[in-house]
Amino acid sequence: MDSLPLLAGHPYASFLDQVEKPARYAGGEVGSVVKDWASVEARVCLAFPDVYDIGMSHLGFKILYKLLNDDPRTLAERCYAPWVDMEAQLVKRGLPLVSLESARPLRDFDVVGFSLQFELTYSNILTMLHLGGVPLRAEGRGEDDPIVIAGGPTATHPEPIAPFLDALVIGDGEEKATEVALLWTRLKREGVPRRERLVAIARLGAVYVPSLYATRIDPGTGFEVVDRPLVSGIPFPIERALVDLNKYPFPDESPTGGPEAIFDRMSIEIARGCTEGCRFCQAGMIYRPVRERDPEQIVETVMRAVQKSGQDEVSLTALSTADVSCISPLVKKVTERLTRERISLGVSSLRAYGLEPDLLDELKRVRATGLTFAPEAGTQRMRDVVNKNVTEEQLLETAERVFSRGWGKMKLYFMIGLPTETDEDVRGIVETGARAAGAGRRAAGKGKPADVTVSVSTHVPKPHTPFQWAAMDTLSEVGRKQQLLKDTVRPYRAVTLKTHEANASVLEGIFARGDRPLADVLERAWRGGARFDSWDDQIKLSVWEEAFTHTGVGRAKYLGTLPVTARLPWDHIDVGLEDGFLAKEYRKALQSRLSPPCGKVAGMFVHHTNLDDATADTRRLVCYDCGVACDMTLMRDERLTFLDRLGAHKRSLPVLTDAAAAPPAGAAPSAADGGPPAEPARAGDAELSRAGADDAPRAGDEDPARAEAAVPPPAEAAAPPPAGGEAPPRAKRNAPAPKGRGGFRYRFRFEKTGPVALLGHLDVVRELPRVIRRVGMPMTYTAGFHPKPDMTFSPALSLGVISLDEYVDLRLERDLDPAALDALVASMSAASPRGLAFRGAVKLGPEDPALSKLIAGARYALVFARSAIGGDAEASLAARCSAVLSAASLPIRREIDRLAKMVDVRQYLVRAEVGGPEVLSALARAGLVGDLVAVEVEVDIRGSGAVKSSEVAAVIAGEPGEAPGAITPPPHRAVRLQLFGRAAPAGSAAGERFSLFDLDRARRVKSAPERAPSLALAADAE
Ligand code: SF4
Repeated sequence: MDSLPLLAGHPYASFLDQVEKPARYAGGEVGSVVKDWASVEARVCLAFPDVYDIGMSHLGFKILYKLLNDDPRTLAERCYAPWVDMEAQLVKRGLPLVSLESARPLRDFDVVGFSLQFELTYSNILTMLHLGGVPLRAEGRGEDDPIVIAGGPTATHPEPIAPFLDALVIGDGEEKATEVALLWTRLKREGVPRRERLVAIARLGAVYVPSLYATRIDPGTGFEVVDRPLVSGIPFPIERALVDLNKYPFPDESPTGGPEAIFDRMSIEIARGCTEGCRFCQAGMIYRPVRERDPEQIVETVMRAVQKSGQDEVSLTALSTADVSCISPLVKKVTERLTRERISLGVSSLRAYGLEPDLLDELKRVRATGLTFAPEAGTQRMRDVVNKNVTEEQLLETAERVFSRGWGKMKLYFMIGLPTETDEDVRGIVETGARAAGAGRRAAGKGKPADVTVSVSTHVPKPHTPFQWAAMDTLSEVGRKQQLLKDTVRPYRAVTLKTHEANASVLEGIFARGDRPLADVLERAWRGGARFDSWDDQIKLSVWEEAFTHTGVGRAKYLGTLPVTARLPWDHIDVGLEDGFLAKEYRKALQSRLSPPCGKVAGMFVHHTNLDDATADTRRLVCYDCGVACDMTLMRDERLTFLDRLGAHKRSLPVLTDAAAAPPAGAAPSAADGGPPAEPARAGDAELSRAGADDAPRAGDEDPARAEAAVPPPAEAAAPPPAGGEAPPRAKRNAPAPKGRGGFRYRFRFEKTGPVALLGHLDVVRELPRVIRRVGMPMTYTAGFHPKPDMTFSPALSLGVISLDEYVDLRLERDLDPAALDALVASMSAASPRGLAFRGAVKLGPEDPALSKLIAGARYALVFARSAIGGDAEASLAARCSAVLSAASLPIRREIDRLAKMVDVRQYLVRAEVGGPEVLSALARAGLVGDLVAVEVEVDIRGSGAVKSSEVAAVIAGEPGEAPGAITPPPHRAVRLQLFGRAAPAGSAAGERFSLFDLDRARRVKSAPERAPSLALAADAE
């Protein structure tokens, strides 16, 4: 049976807390936009075919959300793929998949726009359409159904998913998103039939409408290729859209304050495209030319984003950040500004080779666990084949620099299955790792660890890359090479080998180079249960096997070598590359010939970091005439302008780049919806260079939490910059914070209701400092090398437990009088996610005890629907209360992480009685409505532990569970009504309770031992 609704009026309210991470579906974040549907012309649902935690980090999604919501004519809401438990609930209950903002089903929108990042999310698109009430196939959609569009990198090879989509936006999505939405809704209002509307959309350009093109079987390959348009006036081939990034500044706000996203920081796109030309990297090909955002605009966006989000970490993101022309002065400028705000700066995709000792010193402060680099191939010959301009000497030098600074671990990413690969290349992967470990051991010094992890994935040839014609290794060949790696690594104790499950890669390869018949395979597999195929623990290979067999679609043709002259299933999509460019690069690869980076001076792998040098160097910039037709004069002038604007006139200490001989980083991660790059995917990567979508965050990535080299804020108190705006000297900024606590201490009381009651405790702990930053109140930080806001929370609550009485003690830099404190409390509520409300604050003196010394107990209301109790509910509950209070012990089994222990609830239970009018009115404040009956309980909270409200509910009205000692609580909702101190000893019902704001009483218990469970016990405590 369901619990009482937590989100009144929400279709999922009654069961949300029965699913994993329920806040994924609740919305209400700061920065989420809920517009009046009647006030706009077009309503767009931005749909991301993976879970919230992954989709929330996606830059393209953020761009379109802001763009569409800033436009008074349009609105955008969000929807993410429901995790499998949520899907099961929706199916069981016959409920639709709804958007986060207005809780409307997908079918209600005018436009449903999917982000296509990765082939292995296709089955989730079908789930979302089906649950959203939208017919699966485009041909099955009626006049009133929404238009289903998609954009992103895999939209450039869309045939396997094409029958499920009405249209695909090719290239940058900024202009097309609004254009398509408005045109579609206007024509619909005018009564134009659906097919004619689609023709009009196709005529916009850069939009591919699959149903308007004929296909044929290519006799050479057996592929079904797109042959010709079926109506006049629509493009063929379909050219991509390309926007001037500076006309679309990166958004300075996006929803924040929900469950933790995989990349939990404010990421700012600083450039799109890449100059490095790694031959396996699709993003590096389809987003050409490199387009850099105006650095002044970036700096301003960063500062506004910090203020609006409250995040304490900002990341500058591009496919290869180190190759953005003004990256060094830009980082310097941003750091100067962020320094004052105590914000860390992360810079993704730094170059691993030639990393400055200075930068490594800074990295060491925040990356205690190790660094990650991506040489990609194990021999120089193979690195030349993939156009990864990196020498082993440079890699070993990096290893020395890393290990000599005290890191004990380093991770290296490689691929197997690259074209022309031999067993020597495969063995070379392990041997390179071993040599790096050896160099590291020598540099680290005697007895110090120098372990290298070699992580090896399987190359997937991607369309629109020079390797698009190359064969993908068969599963058996991958298995053989993986065994060869295992045999080779055996003698090297300092090298740990990690290989990746290859079945998913093969499926990715099939769908990457696939044609339309694969749509039948996809639908069959989806109907058989295929979901979240990029998650190692979710992919169902037998289901896919059956789907291929059932449909009679063979796999071999998608995986073998393709003739360079063949017509390919993605040839009708024009990403801007000249005919012959990719083939030429492929031929160079097969001859192990490099193509040094384009857009740079010949022979240079890094840009000039100051105007003097850049102006003096008049040598030509490298260009291979790839087809996108860069204006080299403009490119050079723009770079000079950017250096000028950043004040980088004279040669000075470079922040990021090393010697001019430093090699280039490869292109890296997946690209964003409609164009911009996604967050880099790998943790702590000083260089994050892997093939496009292959690097998208996915299940099984070992270290997904942090993907960047982070430059932390200075540890000492924020100081204004010296005259002239120069940053303080680096050594000074790196110093640890002074010992001792400064500032002024306050106790805040707050409530957690609605969506915030569905947030985990750690999510709330993360959110509170952000609230304070959003209101511009400087906090005091702890001492040490990793300063954190100085704050202490009351004991954690279980997920779904509402609270009307939570506390946090925190230190602020300002001395606030009561009026200013009241104003701060009000502004904090206004800057919080829905359901987090601050109700008061008091200033604490140095003698006032901490929360953990004061909190002695809690009062809860255990709330039941009267119908669930039956009969005379009050009398029945009163009898049960009386029974439990007269029991000598009330044992219950508690399981945490599959470990069970018995807890005697009676030891903690002080009082239990049917709640009166005061309790019922509190329930209304907590958002609980209906014919309710409540039991009010009082429990002790001790330093040694506490009891959960669900355990009390179980012993009062639960049913015996299956395991010995287990009792299943009845469907109920718990509300923490009060946390209090107690003047008398714990366990005494007569002990007088006092408010945690009653500082006079609180001071009298100053000498008592710590009473409340520490945060370490938080998950166990309520
Ligand atoms: S046109 Fe030349 S400089 Fe521009 S992306 Fe192509 S190869 Fe590079």
